[in-house]
Order: sequence, then C-alpha cells, then structure tokens
Amino acid sequence: MATSNVLLLFAQAAVYFTVMMSLLRARKVIGIGVFMCALGVMHFLETYLASVFYIQLPFGIVSPGSTVLFSGKLLMILLLYVREDALAVRQPIYGLLIGNFLIVALVMILRNHETIDVTNSHGPDFAFIDEMGLLMVWGTILLFIDSILIIILYERIGDWLGRHLGLRFLICGAVVLTFDQAGFFLALHYVSGAPGHVFFGGWVAKMVATVVYTVLFIVYLKYFDTEKGWLTDRPLKDVFQVLTYRERYHKLLEASIRDHLTGALDRSQYDQNAPAILARNLAEGRAVSLLVIDIDHFKQVNDRHGHQAGDEVLKTVARLLTENLRSDDHLYRVGGEEFVLLCEKLPADGATSLAERLRKTIERFSKVYLPEKITVSVGVACAPEDGDTLERLFKTADQRLYEAKKKGRNWVVGPKAEL
Ligand code: GH3
Ligand code: MG
Ligand code: MG
Repeated sequence: MATSNVLLLFAQAAVYFTVMMSLLRARKVIGIGVFMCALGVMHFLETYLASVFYIQLPFGIVSPGSTVLFSGKLLMILLLYVREDALAVRQPIYGLLIGNFLIVALVMILRNHETIDVTNSHGPDFAFIDEMGLLMVWGTILLFIDSILIIILYERIGDWLGRHLGLRFLICGAVVLTFDQAGFFLALHYVSGAPGHVFFGGWVAKMVATVVYTVLFIVYLKYFDTEKGWLTDRPLKDVFQVLTYRERYHKLLEASIRDHLTGALDRSQYDQNAPAILARNLAEGRAVSLLVIDIDHFKQVNDRHGHQAGDEVLKTVARLLTENLRSDDHLYRVGGEEFVLLCEKLPADGATSLAERLRKTIERFSKVYLPEKITVSVGVACAPEDGDTLERLFKTADQRLYEAKKKGRNWVVGPKAEL
C-alpha cells in the first residue's frame, strides 16, 4: 500500500515537472502567461489537498498537495526567476497573493447565501470552507515569503556555489521548504488540530520532493537544455528591490526631483542637496569639482529652428552629459540652458579633462546629428582650492565660464591650465 503511494507520488511529480518545464521552455513561442496560469491554477488544489487529503508513507503521513504541488510550485517560481528575471517572477508571486485573497474575500460574501440542495446531500460544508479559507490565507502569505526567500537565498549562495546549479536548487529547496513546513504546520495544528507527526512526515516528504525535483532538473539540463542561460549573476540589492516593487517607488521619487525636459536633477535639488554633498566630501578629505556648463548662442538656435527644436537640442545635450557621468557625479539643470555638474572625489586635473571630454563630445555629436553645430562653454572650480562652500565654488566656476565665453566660446576654463 505504502509502496504504491510512493510510486503514485513520483508519477505526480514527474508529470507536474514535465508539463511545467515544457511550458517554461516554450514561453517564447506560446507566451509566459500559459506557464503562469498553469502555476496559479494548481494553488487551489494544493490547499484543498493539504486540508483533507492525506496518505500513509513508510516514514509518516503526508499530503500530495504539500509534497508534490507546493514544493513543485516553489521550485517552478525559482526556475522562472533563473530563466527570466526578478521582473518576470514577481508577477506570479503577487498574482498568487492577490488571487488567493480575492478567493477568500469572494467566499466570505458567498457563504452568506441561503443555498438549496439540488443534488441530494451535496450542500456546502461551511465549517470546511472556513477551515480552508484560513489555510488559504496563511498558506498564501507563507508562499509569498517563501518565494522571495528562495530567490534571495539562491542568489546569496551563488557567490560560493556558482555553477553548481543542482546543489543550489537542493539547498534552497531544503531550507525554504523546512521553513514553510514549520509555518504551515503551525496553522494546520491550530486550525485542524493536526498531530505532531504530521509535521515530521510532511517535512521528510518535502525534502524527498526537493531531491526528486532537483534530480529531474539535473536530468533536464543534461539532456534537454544547456547550462547557458541558467547561470545568472544579479546584484542582490536590485533583485530585492524589484521583487518588492520598491524600484517603482524609487523611480517615482526620482521622477519628482528631476527636470521633466532633460531628466537632470532640478534646481531645488541643487539648492537642497548639493551643499551637503560638498560638505560631506570635504569633511572626509576628498576633492570635489564643480562644472558650470552653458550652451553657446542658444538663443540663436531657438531663433533659427524654433523653440521645439531648441528643446530637442537641450535634451540631447543633457543626454550626452548624463552618458558620460560616473556614479559619483550629479547633474543639475540650474538655468534654461545651463547645467551644473558636481563631481565627488574628482580633483582639478580630472575635472578639467572631464570638462574637455564633454565639450568635445557635444561638438562632435552635434556636427553629425543636430540641425547645426552646438557647442558648450565650461567653467571649472575645485574644492578645497577654490573655496569650501558651494556659493564660492559656483561663483568661481561662473567667472571662468564667463572667461570661456569671452575667449570665443566652445572653451573650457579650469583652475590651472587653460585648455
Ligand atoms: P551664450 O550663452 O553663448 O552667451 O548665448 P546664449 O544665447 O546661449 O545665452 P542667453 O543666456 O542669452 O540665452 C539663453 C537662451 O536659452 C534664452 C532662451 O530662449 C533659451 N532657453 C532657456 N530655456 C529654454 C528651454 O527650456 N527651451 C528652449 N528651447 N530654449 C530655452
Ligand atoms: Mg548660453
Ligand atoms: Mg545661459
């Protein structure tokens, strides 16, 4: 009896894995939605089985719902992440969470109906429905945590296990499913009074399931796919940001502090944050450079080609500037066609050559791609030599910009050598 139960479980795992893997593999052809829906549909069956459907195995009592389907789903979520990315995998993670809460909410309304029996003795069992509802809520929250946990863990252990994909899967599955079993058992114990040995039996079954799925995965990689594409290296911080939708929030915050036309930080950011950036660097003994960049004869560009073309030129100049920045540089649009570039950890010589590089880039690019040649003049000032406050620094850079304009424009004037 127990042996045939084991065989049946293996059969379920093999069918589940084969179908889901085929859908994942064919996603470019049939669309990823097919995989995601198939994954979602299984959730209801899982919860149902986990609350009523138990079988005897040699080492204890288990539910196929938790063993085959739940473990499988978690590994499928991980596989989707590895094959695609955090942006793709967060969709089913949130979809499952919201969809299951929606089910519970609808059932809470439904259970207020006065129902009639149309088939003898098949009326709804409200006590059972309530029990399942509780498990559903708890299981869904756990699944949400498990999913994020398994992805983060997978990336974490990637540092030292790298290419050993099978081993990474095994460890992730074992750790997260242990955590899950403890969490789910608590609810099961509380809701349906499940005895302690159900925890142990379920845990062993989940560990076996992890091994079985890992073996299936290794076989799949060996015979049906290559490791290429399965090996990823993504910064953990970014993954977490995407999984929790925080990158949207950051982008929203970012957008509100940026100038709409050019995407550079706006004037208020210069006033609010730039003094602190300067002070922080000076306190730590690091050089800071400030570049004032002004487009030459921009009024004429507007006059000749119209305001809209002028806007395009502004955008292009801002883009060229942005593309040449390091992460420690901050670009502000401080006037109509005037930008300030504040560069942390950049001393005078570096700043002057950066300014020169930017000047040349804009000149060359505009000759080829813009309605007419566009040039900029740049004044450079450096802290601490030219002053240790933002006002002093700006004033000096602005004077040098004025000099550059006087010299005939398309010039960089820096603290030491004039280029
Ligand atoms: P120079 O700096 O070389 O001395 O000459 P300029 O013509 O660039 O200098 P000025 O500061 O006199 O003119 C700047 C012009 O920039 C005036 C204004 O029409 C234009 N301008 C300012 N903001 C915008 C904008 O958002 N879009 C467009 N299209 N033009 C702008
Ligand atoms: Mg100008
Ligand atoms: Mg100007």
